[in-house]
Amino acid sequence: SPSRSSVIVIGAGVSGLSAAKVLVDNGIDDLVILEASDRIGGRVCKENFGGVSVELGAGWIVGVGGKEPNPVWELALKSSLRTCFSDYSNARYNIYDRSGKIFPSGVAADSYKKAVDSAIQKLRNQGEDAGDLSIVSEPLCTPKTPMELAIDFILHDFEMAEVEPISTYLDFGEREFLVADERGYECLLYKMAEDFLFTSEGKILDSRLKLNKVVREIQHSRNGVTVTTEDGCIYEANYVVLSVSIGVLQSDLISFTPPLPGWKTEAIEKCDVMVYTKIFLKFPYKFWPCGPGKEFFIYAHERRGYYTFWQNMENAYPGSNILVVTVTNGESKRIEAQSDEETMKECIEVLRDMFGPDIPDATDILVPRWWSNRFQRGSYSNYPIISDCQVVQNIKEPIGRIYFTGEHTSERFNGYVHGGYLAGIDTSNALLEEMRKDKERKSDGQSFL
Ligand code: FAD
Repeated sequence: SPSRSSVIVIGAGVSGLSAAKVLVDNGIDDLVILEASDRIGGRVCKENFGGVSVELGAGWIVGVGGKEPNPVWELALKSSLRTCFSDYSNARYNIYDRSGKIFPSGVAADSYKKAVDSAIQKLRNQGEDAGDLSIVSEPLCTPKTPMELAIDFILHDFEMAEVEPISTYLDFGEREFLVADERGYECLLYKMAEDFLFTSEGKILDSRLKLNKVVREIQHSRNGVTVTTEDGCIYEANYVVLSVSIGVLQSDLISFTPPLPGWKTEAIEKCDVMVYTKIFLKFPYKFWPCGPGKEFFIYAHERRGYYTFWQNMENAYPGSNILVVTVTNGESKRIEAQSDEETMKECIEVLRDMFGPDIPDATDILVPRWWSNRFQRGSYSNYPIISDCQVVQNIKEPIGRIYFTGEHTSERFNGYVHGGYLAGIDTSNALLEEMRKDKERKSDGQSFL
């Protein structure tokens, strides 16, 4: 029969690793970590592309320079991670129309301000509507022109902080640093793993970490949990810490016996999954403007979100001749479903609109597929702004011996690496507390006998 451990941690992304570390640090060293893929890191993931290391998932350390230290920034300092300061606020002054003209900065600034005001107004109306359904909202100006659509896109998908307060900025600061390190953002997670897992020559050799173990079933009762993986292995434990993404929880990858209660599945369904895709393009030479204020630029098209948000990698890797274009949600899904050649063709057409017909073809393209990946099913959680905390609370709430963690369980910092990191710590602290109580209950029972 399978051996029984104290805890099974499912998933070895930042939250699963920080959860496991807290447990081991507190003497729970007979745990098992089951990870579906062949590596640790999850959504912190680099790939070599065009001679440099690019980040397919998390790219920035967001929230630096504020009143409290961001724990991920602290880890970065400890590992001397190479980063560059990023400032997207200039993007609005580099908006190209389809004929390659840049909108005058005054026009762009006015339009930006209007969009911010209208978004704030809309938010207020939603807040009021939530309280009193009889209130009729003022009709708002909806974005129509390509420039308005482009601004609407960057405002909602990149700069929501202009519209509503974001806890990450309030607590940790408003600065953002792009990771530009050959070792990748993931080296922070390897460093964390080294503290509590056996490693040799930079490789994790600890038998408690099991890669390529896709969890398909969790059976749970008052007495314990039994976890079954796709390859037919069975693991038993007193508790499970489940760190898979909200997208995976919404999918049918893992079945629960008995099934999760209705309030739990309802909360899981309520959380939006954001798809966010960075497409990398390598060129034989640079044909885009570089220098201060030019790192980000915007393409204004009739279709909202059509290859809108561009970044050149000159700050991160001078001379790399790499451009990154970010697409989200519907566009991400459309692009994931087509061939990379098709996507490259579309990108080059867009770039020819902006920079003229003579620019060279790209020599390589990299298109991450977070939506199609059955171990991810999206990029990160996105709670509706007007949702109450109850949804996150319910997603996080343990079910018997199953404890939930992951960025989506972070009330204040969901969607970020530091959210995942802090959620892992919180979940394990809650579990340790429960284990202490359980021990007390048992010893009370014994003294009673
Ligand atoms: P994950 O990293 O997803 O870890 C969960 C693990 O569970 C994965 O390794 C997965 O393989 C595994 N798993 C899934 N199913 C199973 C199963 N059935 N059995 C076993 N294992 C399973 N954050 C920032 O702070 N800054 C950014 O700039 C930023 N940009 C982002 C850009 C993109 C494209 C993406 C995708 C994310 C970005 N994020 C960013 C968010 C950040 O990456 C995540 O919030 C964080 O990494 C999530 O960590 P996690 O541990 O909660 O989940």
